[in-house]
Amino acid sequence: MARTAPLAALAPALLLVACASGGGTATPAPDAPPASTAPAEPEVWVAPDVAARLAKYAPTTLTADISALPDGERRALGELIAAGRVMDEIFLRQVWTGNPELRDLVAGYQGADAEAVREFFDVNFGPWDRLAEEEPWLSTFPKPPGAGFYPPDLGKEDAERWMAEHPGQADAFRGTFSVVRRVGNDEGEDDELSIVPYSQEYRPLLEQAAAHLRRAAAATGNASLRRFLELRAAAFLSDDYYDSDVAWMELDAPVEVTIGPYETYEDALFGYKAAFEAFVTVALPEESAKLAGYKAELPWLERNLPIPDEHKNLQRGSDSPIRVVDLVFAGGDAAAGVQTIAFNLPNDERVREAKGSKKVLLHNVLRAKYDQILVPIAQRTLAAEELSHLSFDAFFNEVLHHELSHGLGPGRIRVGGRETEVRLELKELYSPLEEAKADVMGVYDIYALVERGRMPRELLDTLPATYLAGLFRSARFGVHEAHGRGVVSQFNYLLEKGALSVDAEGRFRVVEERFLPAITDLLRDYLMLQARGDYAGTAAFLDRYGKATPALEAAIARLADVPVDIRPSFPLAEQLAPGE
Ligand code: ZN
Repeated sequence: MARTAPLAALAPALLLVACASGGGTATPAPDAPPASTAPAEPEVWVAPDVAARLAKYAPTTLTADISALPDGERRALGELIAAGRVMDEIFLRQVWTGNPELRDLVAGYQGADAEAVREFFDVNFGPWDRLAEEEPWLSTFPKPPGAGFYPPDLGKEDAERWMAEHPGQADAFRGTFSVVRRVGNDEGEDDELSIVPYSQEYRPLLEQAAAHLRRAAAATGNASLRRFLELRAAAFLSDDYYDSDVAWMELDAPVEVTIGPYETYEDALFGYKAAFEAFVTVALPEESAKLAGYKAELPWLERNLPIPDEHKNLQRGSDSPIRVVDLVFAGGDAAAGVQTIAFNLPNDERVREAKGSKKVLLHNVLRAKYDQILVPIAQRTLAAEELSHLSFDAFFNEVLHHELSHGLGPGRIRVGGRETEVRLELKELYSPLEEAKADVMGVYDIYALVERGRMPRELLDTLPATYLAGLFRSARFGVHEAHGRGVVSQFNYLLEKGALSVDAEGRFRVVEERFLPAITDLLRDYLMLQARGDYAGTAAFLDRYGKATPALEAAIARLADVPVDIRPSFPLAEQLAPGE
């Protein structure tokens, strides 16, 4: 394998040169970063619009009411926040091994927009912009697709060849909880690969995190939390997460925490390696209890779907718990870029089979996105009289019933006498269709639960307009991508059925009497495409309805000054976290 100069060593050196010679001034700011990996003239490049990039995230305070928490739970919460901060440190290294050194240099940076540079570094966990397809905003080298999980110059083909040459280690290479590093071979060349488990690669940090978890376990009076924390602390040092994942499913405590290596999106090379993260939260038991009531309605909701009985999925289990919590600290992967509003874990299929999965909704994050993003979007896209028909309650319930809808409707199906799954038949169109189905079924189910007397009728005053504003919120992430086409298809279908109208100023409104009938028709169409496993039909549907119209493009263009996401600060983290 031929090797180029390791990028990891390069960038910090470049910054050093610039800082030493120019007093930290950002050197000539071209309009776009030159796409070089090894420039002959070392220079640091800071995107001239770093402040504008940072402004896409609205600063937001996230906290929770902990007045009812006993002392021991508060101490546990503080230790968990401290453990969450260790996840920041590990994730920083997982994004790029050169990051800790780069961060030190950024800390001393004194050029233009120095404060924005430091904050934007923290938002992105490194020199690449997560809202701009990871383009470099600091210095000029591209992000290695394998992030900090593999040698930065390791290509996919090199890796495949290595696995073919080392069949005994191929499974380890694909492991979720390990990194791949280079080691010297007999000729002294840096050519051999070695698989290093997380427990070894990040040992000192994982020991710190485990110590915080054990102190939290000693402080809490809740047995299910204590059990999870003790098992998770052990898993940090053994790389065996199964037992602690099971204990997480059984966790039911005033202080809820999700901490460890979970999602694999950061590994854009293979998607094998899990990134460390933490959601430290305070439970909202009353909200969770309300949801438990809806869960009991799931079999009824399945029977109530607007499709023939033969296509209904009446055998599905619905054991998965749902929790509503307030976020008091996000660490690592959970803190990078766009903030999560709801998640469904664990990903380990063995745990999902044995125990199902748990959905967690982050109530205060949803509230912040409603206030900071959804309302301003509505103000720029909806007709004036619609603005009094928005509510957080409708937004929260639409998100909740979207999540629940993923568990309803066709899953395993028969096509031409063959047993199969919707997912397998619809291939790359599955996910845009399934997401659009969940949006529309969420609305349909809320209407149904109101009729059934399980939800308050007032909700229907604000549901349609809040749903419509939500479509614009989703559409701005890209109307030309697969997911965007699912969103656009809802919009165009409802417009064609006369359930939406647009006025001369390009403002949208809901035509109330046509709204529920059109939602019902649209849901039936989505569900039948799924029930038949109809790939060609789905493609034709998305072709017909999934293209952005000039009116929609114009509406999205008016959103340029609305923040894309929030940038949280966590006052409880300052208040509660213990010193080292
Ligand atoms: Zn979804």
